[in-house]
Amino acid sequence: MILILDEQVHPGTPLFEAIMEYLSHRSGVSARVHEVKGDLQTLTEIYLIGDTATLDREEIAELAGVDRVVRVSREYRILGRHKDDFRPSGFEYNGVSFSQETFELFAGLCAVDNRDHVDRTFRALAAQGLRCARMGAYKPRTSPYAFQGHGAACLPFVFESAASHGVRVIAMEVTHEKHIQEIHDALAAAGNGTGVMLQVGTRNTQNFELLKAIGRQHEFPVLFKRGFGITLEESLNAAEYLASEGNQRVVFCLRGVKSNLGEPHRNLVDFAQVPVVRRLTRMPVCVDPSHAVGRRDLSPDGIEDIHHAAVQGVVAGANMVLVDIHPEPGKALVDGPQALTLDELPLFVEDLRIAREAYLKRRAAHERARSPAELPKPADSQPA
Ligand code: PEP
Ligand code: MN
Repeated sequence: MILILDEQVHPGTPLFEAIMEYLSHRSGVSARVHEVKGDLQTLTEIYLIGDTATLDREEIAELAGVDRVVRVSREYRILGRHKDDFRPSGFEYNGVSFSQETFELFAGLCAVDNRDHVDRTFRALAAQGLRCARMGAYKPRTSPYAFQGHGAACLPFVFESAASHGVRVIAMEVTHEKHIQEIHDALAAAGNGTGVMLQVGTRNTQNFELLKAIGRQHEFPVLFKRGFGITLEESLNAAEYLASEGNQRVVFCLRGVKSNLGEPHRNLVDFAQVPVVRRLTRMPVCVDPSHAVGRRDLSPDGIEDIHHAAVQGVVAGANMVLVDIHPEPGKALVDGPQALTLDELPLFVEDLRIAREAYLKRRAAHERARSPAELPKPADSQPA
C-alpha cells in the first residue's frame, strides 16, 4: 500500500509525525518513506510493507495529511502501474523529459576509443538536432583479455566534447559502485555542461549490490537493461531494487534475450514486450536494436535488420532507442560489426521519425474506435 501525502507534509512536520505514529501501532506492517522530487514540488510517499491486507484503506485515506492511498497489486510496488494509481510517471533530467509519452534517440559509441571519434560522433548528433548520446567508458567484456574500456581516463574529454556540442544526456554503463563517484567528479571538473544516465548492463541486471548503490544516489537517472537470460518479471523486479532504494528515475531497456532461436541475430529480439512493460510499469521503455540484432544484414526490401527491429519497437510505443554508431566501424574496439556509420545516421533518424508518427497515428485510430470509458485516465496517459 502506498500513502501519498499532501504536498506540504514532509518528514519533520507534525502531520507527518502523526501519520507515522498511527502506522507504528499497526502490527506486522513496516513503513518506508520516499521523497519524490518533481519539477515543481517534492512529494512524500510512504510505502507500507508486510501484512497490509489487515489495514483499513478508507480510514488511512481519511487521516489528516494523506492525499491518496494506492493499493499495490504487484511485486514491483514503486515502478509498477496499479489499479486506481494516478501517480505521475516520468521525470525530467538536465532539461530533457522522459516518460511513456516522450521519445528520444541515444546514438553513440559502444566503447569510447579516442577523442577524435568522440568529437566526430557528437558533431554528427548535433547536426541531426539530437541532444542525447551513448558512450561506453566502462565495458564489461566476456574475455578478461578484451579491451575493458578507457574508464575514468576518457571522461574529461567525453564530457567536454559533449558539452561543446550541446549534448545534454549521455547513457553510460557503470559496472562498479565507484564509477558513480568517478562520473560525478569528472562532470563537475568539466563544469557540468552535460549529464549522465547511468546504464545497468544486461550482465549486471541482477547485481543487487550495484543496483542498491545506484538506487541510493539521486543525482543520476538510470537506463536499466533487461537480463539476457531471465524472465521479464525477474528483470522488472530487479529494476524495482533501484526504486526501493530511492531512485525512481528509471528507463527500462529491452535488448533481446540470449537464445539460438534468434539466429542469425545475436539475440532473440524481444520488442513485442514494449507494450507489456508499459502496461505493467510506469517506466519509459527503451529498445536497443544494436545489441539485439548484432549484425548489419540487408533484407531484400533494401532495409537493414537493425532498422527493422528499431522501428518495430518504436511503432509499438518505445520511448527511447539506444543505438551504436561509429565514425569508422572497422576500427571500433568493441561491437564494430553492428555499428551504423555517421553518414547513415540521418536515414536512421528519418526511419524512427516515420515509425513514431505511425505509432501516434495508430494510437489516435485506436482511441477513436474505443468508447471513452475504455480509455486510460488522464494521469495514465499524460506526461508527468
Ligand atoms: C551496451 O549497451 O554497451 C551493452 C554492453 O549492452 P548490453 O548490456 O545490453 O549487452
Ligand atoms: Mn556493445
